[in-house]
Amino acid sequence: MENLITEMEKGELHVHLNGLVSSKLVKKLLENNIVDIPQGFDLDKDLNVIKPAKSLSSYLKPWDLLRLIPKSRADLTLIVFDAFENLRKCNIGFVELRNSVLYIALLNKVNVEVAMAWLLEDISRASEYYKIKAGLILTVTRGDYSLEQLRSLLSAYINLGKPGLIVGLDLAGNEDIRVSDALAYEFVRAKIEFGLKVTIHAGETGNFKNIAIAVNNFKADRIGHGTAAIKSKAILDLLKEKDICVEVCPISNRLTNAVGESESHPVIEFINNEVPFVICSDNPSIHRSSITQDYIEFYRETKSSIHIKQMLKTQKKYSFIKGLTCR
Ligand SMILES: [Zn+2]
Repeated sequence: MENLITEMEKGELHVHLNGLVSSKLVKKLLENNIVDIPQGFDLDKDLNVIKPAKSLSSYLKPWDLLRLIPKSRADLTLIVFDAFENLRKCNIGFVELRNSVLYIALLNKVNVEVAMAWLLEDISRASEYYKIKAGLILTVTRGDYSLEQLRSLLSAYINLGKPGLIVGLDLAGNEDIRVSDALAYEFVRAKIEFGLKVTIHAGETGNFKNIAIAVNNFKADRIGHGTAAIKSKAILDLLKEKDICVEVCPISNRLTNAVGESESHPVIEFINNEVPFVICSDNPSIHRSSITQDYIEFYRETKSSIHIKQMLKTQKKYSFIKGLTCR
């Protein structure tokens, strides 16, 4: 099975650009730019999470540094091409990359529109070079400024002429922070007005009610992680009935402790309850891993070769990228 998994074509529907770039390149860019490393940060250890983190905030430690790059247009290009190189190694045929764009604008003292145009140009060039179809999902962070972030991203998107490469919106971050109705309204408006699809990180840290909010208020087309869905039969039924696909990230879920060491992975219950799902990697380079390893981990947990064999078809069905043909 491992050989089959390694060699088969795959899609990737949940991966963060910063979590896909090789740690080696991150270190090089930090050194070249003489970035001040936060006190107590060990570059050789703290850029990766390879054992279950004690908390989500300790899992997020690598981002203390990742948010300090790219410091130039050229560095962004290196990051994007390195990310695609890593995808190519895993036989990825199409990818939906996630990024919040705003930090690129801030770091490089350009407006959001310019940062977004840079990123789109690099993704487009790398996509062509590596022959990997691509889409960009704009990520908004949960918090006091979510609505401003979303408005700023959407205004850049409109000013750039609504580029087709942007395929969706994502909400990520601390799930204990309550989201406003106004934010949900803006997500739905963007969905109706621009045809952008919606995926929400929900139910990753134990709260299944966030999945209901994502589906009912944000009109989510897919759910990121959704591990807490198994706590509620009503939520499992909702996902099945509305045909909402869960982005399952087996390795990430273990390392963030979304799924505890002694627990079996919720994907088993997704299978039992006919909830659609795709296998994704989330932040493979942070995990010193790859989506191939996520497939292998999925197989170890479920022993389901049927789902592995159908995965590419399933990923195409639920992808936000238009025109992927199913064979
Ligand atoms: Zn994620």
